[in-house]
Amino acid sequence: MNNARSHELFTRASQLLPGGVNSPVRAFKSVGGEPFFAQRAEGAYLIDVDGNRYVDYVGSWGPMIAGHAHPQVLAAVERAMRDGLSFGVPNALEVAMAEEIVKIVPSCAMVRMVNSGTEATLSAIRVARGATGRNRIVKFEGCYHGHGDSFLVKAGSGVMTLGLPNSPGVPSALADLTLTLAYNDFDAATKLFDEVGGEIAGLIIEPIVGNANCILPRDGYLQHLRALCTQHGALLIFDEVMTGFRVALGGAQALYGIEPDLSTFGKIIGGGMPVGAYGGRRELMSQVAPAGPIYQAGTLSGNPVAMAAGLATLELIQAPGFHAELERRTHTLCDGLEAAAREAGVAFHTTRAPGMFGLYFREGPVETFDDAKASDAAKFNRFFHAMLERGVYLAPSAFEAGFVSSAHGEAEIAQTLEAARAAFAAL
Ligand code: PMP
Repeated sequence: MNNARSHELFTRASQLLPGGVNSPVRAFKSVGGEPFFAQRAEGAYLIDVDGNRYVDYVGSWGPMIAGHAHPQVLAAVERAMRDGLSFGVPNALEVAMAEEIVKIVPSCAMVRMVNSGTEATLSAIRVARGATGRNRIVKFEGCYHGHGDSFLVKAGSGVMTLGLPNSPGVPSALADLTLTLAYNDFDAATKLFDEVGGEIAGLIIEPIVGNANCILPRDGYLQHLRALCTQHGALLIFDEVMTGFRVALGGAQALYGIEPDLSTFGKIIGGGMPVGAYGGRRELMSQVAPAGPIYQAGTLSGNPVAMAAGLATLELIQAPGFHAELERRTHTLCDGLEAAAREAGVAFHTTRAPGMFGLYFREGPVETFDDAKASDAAKFNRFFHAMLERGVYLAPSAFEAGFVSSAHGEAEIAQTLEAARAAFAAL
């Protein structure tokens, strides 16, 4: 595989950007080696600057659920773009986007658009604190909610990949207000709320943890958290930046039948453009400025080009059977990977939700953060490179979920499984 141009770009980038990248996990630090630089993307494929073609299971970390460069999304962006890139006054596409979100997600009576998942979670926490008059928040080990100060405590994603669970630069006075729990531990949550429930503004959770690989909630766990929050007057915040519009049209809250007080979104609602959103009950959201006193704003929020990309993507995923088909393909992929590992005698396990999956180099089940951490990361790293050499791009970390899009058809999955048989054998 020729990587000359990527290598040249990474050498230049490394002098100019911290670690050569604008977001840590992209640097391949945990898997080793150097990242490739994208030239373009189409459907299920990424094509790099050296002309190598990869079946892509990262999908820009979630937004590309309908595949890269979908013609309908590109056409919508082109149409919007011709009218101007940003107005700084309200535009009709923002209203259409808000109408779509509240239609699809019944727990959200109102929403506010922002520019990233990080902004969405920061803002949701501010609303929780402002509305309850309390300061403490609860998060879960291994969950990642963006890089806001309050969330860089025992976080997942790149923080976990790089072994930096508590980032320097976060004042301890703030970090001390973040309490952490072990995901899927019923008793720990009960105990914490019994002790300090009256001081908790909100509990934020990835209902399916996609930033510590892919960990699913035990039966009744999310219901348990819902009940604890209600009982103690804390707000339940579902961070659906990853799961929203993916694991079901209505996200994890629809899949598991839970009504959170606030929800955060990103990725898919931007269709690949920088977008986030937070929303929830009217009584809470109407406390956000200028309707109420809780301040939050954004120069580019509700950007018309970004709204157009997101709306086109939301239209595509509302085609009948879209999510059922995504789920079927996720199972075909994961069943095939498990079979290939078995043939090669490699201890391996997958977890799945519709359109997302986790890969573990250990026997199952995987139900907790500790279970996920016990995966053989060194083996994953060798597997990652063996797949990359064979034209399949997995998330460059043993602790990130993978994503399947509607562009991953029979041919792409078959190619992936053929590569996997060789890669497992080469381990
Ligand atoms: N929440 C979750 C669950 C995420 O997965 C991410 C990003 N992967 C974020 C928040 C932060 O989003 P962004 O990177 O757009 O700031």
